[in-house]
Formats: sequence, C-alpha cells, structure tokens
Amino acid sequence: MKATCKARQLVGDAEVLTLHACIVCGEPSKADNFEGYILQVCAVHKRVRRKGSLPRFWPRDDEG
Ligand SMILES: [Zn+2]
Repeated sequence: MKATCKARQLVGDAEVLTLHACIVCGEPSKADNFEGYILQVCAVHKRVRRKGSLPRFWPRDDEG
C-alpha cells in the first residue's frame, strides 16, 4: 500500500510543477487573481500584468 501512496505522491508533484509554470515564460509561478481572472504567472510577469503590459491570451468579453 505504501508503494501506491508513493506513486500517487509523484503524480501529484508532477501536476503541481505543471500547474505552477508561468504561462508566459515557464518559470515557477503562483496563481495570480487579478481583475477576476486567475493566471499562472511568475513574480516578474505578475508585475507586468499589473501594469497592463501582459499579452492577452484570450479575447475579453466582459467589457462594458
Ligand atoms: Zn513569467
């Protein structure tokens, strides 16, 4: 049973690594909740996002 738990832990680690890659540069990142959208961005791109300089990854449909 311990082996199963270990395998599950490894899969969990891989998922965490994938989820925590910055969508811009792939560096380690955290979920950044800004203006109602959550993006995985690193510290650098989090600041870029706050300045509004981040490239858009999808069209906005909530303006107005
Ligand atoms: Zn980044």
